[in-house]
Amino acid sequence: MPTRRALVVGAGVAGLTTALRLLRSDWEIVLVERASRFADDGFPCALRGAGWDAAGRLGVLGALTERSQPRCGTVVIDRTGVPFALSPKPSSRVPVLRHGDVVSVLREAVGDVLRRAEVLRLVEDDCGVTVEFTGGDADWFDLVVGADGTDSAVRGAVYGDQKWRGQGFSVVSGRLQGSSRDAVRMDLPRRSIRVHPLHDGQSAALFAWRGDVGLALDDVFGDVPGLPSSLLSQVDEVRLSRRKGFQSHLRRWASKQVVLVGDAAWCSRRYCEHGVSLSIAGAELLGDALDIFPHTAEALAWWEEQMRPLVRRARRQSTVLRESEVAEAFAARPV
Ligand SMILES: Cc1cc2nc3c(=O)[nH]c(=O)nc-3n(C[C@H](O)[C@H](O)[C@H](O)COP(=O)(O)OP(=O)(O)OC[C@H]3O[C@@H](n4cnc5c(N)ncnc54)[C@H](O)[C@@H]3O)c2cc1C
Repeated sequence: MPTRRALVVGAGVAGLTTALRLLRSDWEIVLVERASRFADDGFPCALRGAGWDAAGRLGVLGALTERSQPRCGTVVIDRTGVPFALSPKPSSRVPVLRHGDVVSVLREAVGDVLRRAEVLRLVEDDCGVTVEFTGGDADWFDLVVGADGTDSAVRGAVYGDQKWRGQGFSVVSGRLQGSSRDAVRMDLPRRSIRVHPLHDGQSAALFAWRGDVGLALDDVFGDVPGLPSSLLSQVDEVRLSRRKGFQSHLRRWASKQVVLVGDAAWCSRRYCEHGVSLSIAGAELLGDALDIFPHTAEALAWWEEQMRPLVRRARRQSTVLRESEVAEAFAARPV
């Protein structure tokens, strides 16, 4: 019988995995999501290391592996359209999955606990948290998990105004007809492109740029060498979003009864290439911590202590090139 109540805010990878893990222990879960429909975000991501292990223990690895996409190397293209580096295929142990497939596998595993609601205010007391939802409802929980992504309202409610680094950027995720043997990555100042082949003969594409979200892809990327505008006009856009920038480093991810998991806590880059794996691993470990320690505050402090080095290590291993590294690679390339 459930003896403790947790509110999980956000039904992305971090929130769904947290709900799945806590449901295996003595928690009653209320999982709330503000979006009215599930965005089938299609860009593939590799499930690695701790995320892979945690997915196995949570019993979802089989369903995830069934949906995996082709493993391939990545060709890095320079600003003149010339390939200058090839990163190797991930190992055969690492499934490469569309983000939307990870979400749907987790949604199936969690079952029917999802509610459509948005958090307005949180007030922590010594033993729990009173939560006010938009629409006027209020409820009390032993624990609140903010898994509500980079623009986290829970983070705002606990830590006040959030600081952002860098400039905002726009992201379009879509599909292209046709697929290549390798994935393609092109990082230019102020804009970038990622393409990944899919099993269905199409390719997933991500376009990101600093500037107005309303601009047509052709206006932003039309001058990129090797990228015909006929290709740009064929992109079947499934999502268009504007991000505020990169979230500042947070000194704490947990207070006494509120904890941030996933992008709400540790996302500080445009492409967090370990974001899915870290969210699954972090959510599972949070459940373990809450099982081990009798007091929530103690569990959250221990969990944060374990997660910080894992996140730091993942950032160091990230295969994403920074602009300075790209510039260095250009400089080093023989003419
Ligand atoms: C352009 C881009 C490329 C990426 N590429 C990769 C990659 O290659 N590999 C990889 O591993 N990761 C990648 N990531 C990161 C990865 O997608 C995330 O780290 C991972 O999905 C975990 O996200 P999350 O669940 O923490 O947050 P999100 O996926 O943002 O989910 C948060 C959820 O909370 C909901 N929500 C927000 N506010 C509220 C509120 N107030 N009340 C209720 N619900 C709310 C949102 O609607 C959303 O459903 C990428 C991210 C981006 C943006």
